Amino acid sequence: MEHTLLTARLTRSEIISEKTKHLEFVVEELADFDFIPGQFVSVREPRGEKTITRAYSIASPPRGNNTFDLCLNRVDEGFMSNFLCDRAVGETARFHGPHGLFVLKPEVEDVVFVATGTGVAPFRSMAQRLFGRDGSGVDRHNGRKIWLVYGTRYAEDVYYQKEFEELAASEPDFHYTATLSRPSDDWKGGRGYVQEHLRQIVGERKDLHVYICGLNEMVNATRKLLVEELGWDKKRVIYERYD
Ligand SMILES: Cc1cc2nc3c(=O)[nH]c(=O)nc-3n(C[C@H](O)[C@H](O)[C@H](O)COP(=O)(O)OP(=O)(O)OC[C@H]3O[C@@H](n4cnc5c(N)ncnc54)[C@H](O)[C@@H]3O)c2cc1C
Repeated sequence: MEHTLLTARLTRSEIISEKTKHLEFVVEELADFDFIPGQFVSVREPRGEKTITRAYSIASPPRGNNTFDLCLNRVDEGFMSNFLCDRAVGETARFHGPHGLFVLKPEVEDVVFVATGTGVAPFRSMAQRLFGRDGSGVDRHNGRKIWLVYGTRYAEDVYYQKEFEELAASEPDFHYTATLSRPSDDWKGGRGYVQEHLRQIVGERKDLHVYICGLNEMVNATRKLLVEELGWDKKRVIYERYD
């Protein structure tokens, strides 16, 4: 199927860790770029004779205008991640979308978001939308409890930490744990892998939805814990794999 290609012009580029950038774009052809939190865009660029297409989760909520954000990790030797991270403000990239089914289910039930690395991007979009941090001020969380468990190796790689901590401080129904697999002695957050924290949050419960996003290894380990070890219905475990 031929997709309509759109032009994203970079308006802001911020380094958020050694290999990661927060990028903000405007879509030139549209007044309103609408999508559902959790969806991704497909960036397409020529490389020699070929055309390369890569998916990137939208890291912002729909704001009723033509903007969107990405959270981009440079992959060693990777083509598209470096192409995008090397864009200067004012330069463009071509993309199609939004695409994807990794979106919140309509049932009003408590949810746990589990992410590693840039897998936090769709959850930033969802959380901002649910708690009216999308410019609308409209609260859409309907009394659900929402946990975000975010895992990475080192403290420098906890993206959007301040934003999530502020959200948790002002919203009693939003709970945030950043956990490090290689913490320094002075780290005050969680320690160990995301699965250990998830296990504590769910306890004996099986009535939540768990959304998982990140690299395959973490996604598989988390699904295995819930479905095989704790006996969850696999329909309650929704995931997006980045590799
Ligand atoms: C639905 C979806 C959403 C995604 N959202 C994001 C996002 O928000 N932010 C983001 O940074 N990435 C995201 N990705 C990953 C992204 O699509 C690319 O796979 C990644 O940027 C690497 O592409 P590349 O062209 O730079 O590397 P390539 O040239 O494709 O790969 C170079 C080498 O890196 C390995 N590799 C490929 N992907 C990864 C990876 N993700 N991590 C580590 N090694 C890898 C390959 O095996 C290969 O050896 C998402 C992927 C999917 C499927």
